[in-house]
Amino acid sequence: MDAVNLLGLTNLIGFDLEGLAAYCEQLGEKRFRATQLFRWIHQKGASDFDQMSDLAKSLRDKLASRAHITALPVISEHLSADGTVKWLFDVGAGDAVEAVFIPETDRGTLCISSQAGCAVGCRFCSTGHQGFSRNLDTGEIIAQLWYAEHSMRKRLGKSERVISNVVMMGMGEPLQNYNALVPALRMMLDDHGYGLSRRRVTVSTSGVVPMIDRLRDDCPVALAVSLHSPTDPLRDQLVPLNKKYPIAELLDACNRYLDKAPRDFITFEYCMLDGVNDTPEQAHALVDLLRGHVSCKINLIPFNPFPASGLKRSSRERVMAFAEILIQSGLVTTVRKTRGDDIDAACGQLAGEVQDRTQVQVRMVRAPMMVKGAGSS
Ligand code: SAH
Ligand code: SF4
Repeated sequence: MDAVNLLGLTNLIGFDLEGLAAYCEQLGEKRFRATQLFRWIHQKGASDFDQMSDLAKSLRDKLASRAHITALPVISEHLSADGTVKWLFDVGAGDAVEAVFIPETDRGTLCISSQAGCAVGCRFCSTGHQGFSRNLDTGEIIAQLWYAEHSMRKRLGKSERVISNVVMMGMGEPLQNYNALVPALRMMLDDHGYGLSRRRVTVSTSGVVPMIDRLRDDCPVALAVSLHSPTDPLRDQLVPLNKKYPIAELLDACNRYLDKAPRDFITFEYCMLDGVNDTPEQAHALVDLLRGHVSCKINLIPFNPFPASGLKRSSRERVMAFAEILIQSGLVTTVRKTRGDDIDAACGQLAGEVQDRTQVQVRMVRAPMMVKGAGSS
């Protein structure tokens, strides 16, 4: 999303408080106006400057002539029988990303995307199979939360916060879009913004080791690491990034992260693939790898199959037997419930059915040509 549209108006949705303060200064306004503006946008969901009753009319007019507050166009919205809501957002040039709201009795969780497509290319992930299209900018990341929060408030007739937890588990590898991610995380945590607890904002990563270290220093939030295998040869195949950052290095980074993490454990995600990573021997190997080495919880995820993967979901019995070995060995383990199955909102199915893979491949082939063209002009 371009910050400035065709009419020359600046979209304020992706500005964090600092950015908005700088913008206000440019307009010759006091910095504290930025706090008011930020609260109107993110706490109250205002998209019209005329709603902002505590700003002087002259400032509202000035803003309206220079700026706008616009989220992403919604391509579709699906409501599941269990209350899960899935939105598909248009991010231009044929790309779409998804966000999913999952209501539970004591919380509301929003799963959002960080990229259109993903470059990591995990075997079992439909986003990975699509290839990488582009990074989302901060505005496009936060717009998913803005839209979900304020549309759900209206739908549920609530004036208070509906979304208490955000997980970066939609499309994309958040730590390969670090510069856009961190300001978006700060907006989620900001008391003038969404006011979410650090413990309730989770970055999920396939293991970009140097960026785990940077996140620890810049903006420590809860961390989930997609492990999926207790050994390097198998993980190399499932998560190609493992060849660059093998398991031992990844676990060291997890331990460094724990020094500053808001929670005293790392969540390891483990997608259960029939006959691939779900044997009792592999469960024992996982225990040996983690017990006493990294403070953690393990989340076993039933695989959501898609045709191109050639993989199958482990049976319920197999998952339970695997979980039992971990639990008996003292590792805290949960088996993820699948939610929103009827609307394809479960993990790894986001936007899978919508993306035109042919287009993505064409774009990937064209990209180097565009770079060459830009350099020679
Ligand atoms: N790129 C990040 C975050 C997005 S993926 C990461 O990999 O962690 C979010 C989670 O969904 C990851 O744990 C990923 O392994 C899992 N996942 C991907 N495809 C899946 C599928 N088909 N079935 C079940 N889980 C899947
Ligand atoms: Fe990318 Fe995560 Fe999918 Fe792997 S699982 S391809 S890192 S989105």
